[in-house]
Amino acid sequence: MASHTGQSAVTVLGLGPMGRALAGAFLDAGLPITVWNRTPGKDQELVERGAIPAESPEAAVAASPLTVICVVNYDAADAIVRRGAVTDALKGRAVVNLTADTPDRARDTAAWAAEHGIGYLDGAIMTPTTTIGTPAGVFLHSGPEQLYQEHRPVLDALGGTHTHLGEEIGRAAAHDIALLDVFWTAMTGYAHALAVAKAEGISARELAPFAKGIGAILPPIFEQAAEEVDSGRFSGEGNPITSAVSSMAHIVHASEAHGIDAGVMRAAEGLARRAIGRGHGTDGFIRITEIMNPR
Ligand code: NDP
Repeated sequence: MASHTGQSAVTVLGLGPMGRALAGAFLDAGLPITVWNRTPGKDQELVERGAIPAESPEAAVAASPLTVICVVNYDAADAIVRRGAVTDALKGRAVVNLTADTPDRARDTAAWAAEHGIGYLDGAIMTPTTTIGTPAGVFLHSGPEQLYQEHRPVLDALGGTHTHLGEEIGRAAAHDIALLDVFWTAMTGYAHALAVAKAEGISARELAPFAKGIGAILPPIFEQAAEEVDSGRFSGEGNPITSAVSSMAHIVHASEAHGIDAGVMRAAEGLARRAIGRGHGTDGFIRITEIMNPR
């Protein structure tokens, strides 16, 4: 990209909890930054710490060679940058979009950026605001390798680990979607477990240590499941899907006896029963991946 001698090294568009954390980490790293947010006032603490407040998004992006966007979704990002003055100001500069959305939205935004001469990297943040600026932060990136390397020093100021997943622009968002799937279905399972426990007179605090134990057995199971899915060989040794489905049915019956919605578990049980119906009863539970996506 062309070099610019703007006021700052990086501009942050979007000062929600995550945007503020990103901007704060840049300041901690000693980088001069420019900030802008749709609703005024959210930049106050950052400005007190040295951030330059911009009057408008076009002024904000014109201040730096690199703009980091972090807003609620791509509709919001589009509302900010896909407007004549802002798009014009971005020409010849680079954008790293750390907003979460779908892979298709990332591809669409990359096409828009290419059309307007804007360097574009897409990214995903996999950890909470408290990890930003610390070694615990996890950032995923996709897009042109050269552009990524060019802006890597600024991104590194955010701390944590940064992984470039490849040039295909949708890859960061695709990882984000898949990993958020793990997170939200796990959290839904935990919410349901707490509801059933409560109905049985067990407090959430009482269940929590045992729930953490369940969490701790998952990592090696994830590893084995990954091998099975990639190889297409699903070993049910020690825990065939016929046994898994019986345990799921107990959960459905116990929770529905208390009038608790068991929809999520019913869906999982249904997938397992379909696998058994197709002759895979001696396979392990993760065979349902192929029931969900036969391609
Ligand atoms: P939000 O997802 O609530 O995003 C808030 C930001 O979006 C604010 O700057 C808000 O501006 C802006 N915004 C919303 N609608 C519009 C709009 N129509 N036009 C312009 N700006 C708009 O909070 P976060 O900051 O926490 O999240 C930002 C991104 O980071 C999201 O994509 C989220 O998924 C991701 N993320 C967040 C994590 C977290 O722990 N918070 C963890 C990992 C990823 P305004 O102040 O004017 O409303």
